[in-house]
Amino acid sequence: MSEFDLIRRLHERINGVDAAVSSACIVGIGDDGAVLDIPSDRQLVVTVDTLVEGVHFPSTTDVQRLGHKALAVNLSDLASMGAQPAWFFLALTLPAPDLSWLDSFTQGMGDLARSAGIVLAGGDTTAGPLSVTITAMGLVEPGMALTRDGARNGDLVVVSGQLGDAAYALELLKAGGMPDYHSRAALENPEPRLKLGRRLRGLATSCIDLSDGLVADLGHILKASAVGAEIKLDLLPGSAGLANLPEGQRWQLQAAGGDDYELCFTIPANRRNELDRVATECGSPLSVIGEITASGELVCLMDNGNVFVPQGRGYDHFNSGIRP
Ligand code: ADP
Ligand code: MG
Repeated sequence: MSEFDLIRRLHERINGVDAAVSSACIVGIGDDGAVLDIPSDRQLVVTVDTLVEGVHFPSTTDVQRLGHKALAVNLSDLASMGAQPAWFFLALTLPAPDLSWLDSFTQGMGDLARSAGIVLAGGDTTAGPLSVTITAMGLVEPGMALTRDGARNGDLVVVSGQLGDAAYALELLKAGGMPDYHSRAALENPEPRLKLGRRLRGLATSCIDLSDGLVADLGHILKASAVGAEIKLDLLPGSAGLANLPEGQRWQLQAAGGDDYELCFTIPANRRNELDRVATECGSPLSVIGEITASGELVCLMDNGNVFVPQGRGYDHFNSGIRP
């Protein structure tokens, strides 16, 4: 397969053969650059994320799920900013152009792209060790993007979905074990919370997506907002599978494990009664897990009132983190 054939195949299988590429994408794949029409009443949100084989995913990862996840982690960043997905760019480095590999990969990526309403508008293709870099762009009403710096003392801390399953699956895979279906899907098939992110505009005072673990990511909100937080560990939402683990292990996975791709956000305490409706409308369970304090510190409390200190502070590529 030539590089040209490979690019054509990506285009056809991700955007769809007959897809009328979004009218806002004036020039897409096939020219030296894309030309995009940004509505005058929108701001552009841009994010980029790389997945490298052996660093972000084991070489045994199902290829269709890899295609899904590479896009999902970028969509999760758009979700956490409250943006509507618009276009993405795919820089693909592949050891060899293998048709069946490419078809699985584009199946996973294409299904998610079409359901999220995002169009592949360009990219770059090179030979080398497997890595996938995506730049995703979304649109948001001026001044409405959700950021990390708006949390205020007394706000409630809320998370979507369940925490810890993906980290549990990774732990089992690394130990040579076999995670249950639910945990493995959490690790390999995360669903970006796009609808929720959009719905939180005007409600959340700050928002972040959980990629490196709750303690690390909530820590970014606290630092940017110059506040602290008190989290109650028994309020962390978790699956039935995790409930059977010893508490210390469960809290470690839920508070410090990564790859959840849920949203963590803050809301003013007097708007708590809106959460049920938001959860129903967006199909995302929402749990209040604690509140913002003026202390400047993040404290995780056990139900006996003692403080739990998780090992590690989330994943850091250049300093040893909790993912070995
Ligand atoms: P150039 O040599 O001018 O940089 P390329 O040969 O890299 O152009 O790309 C040709 C066209 O194909 C461009 O429009 C580019 O955006 C698109 N393209 C290349 N690789 C990919 C990819 N992996 N995914 C989507 N579009 C791609
Ligand atoms: Mg060129």
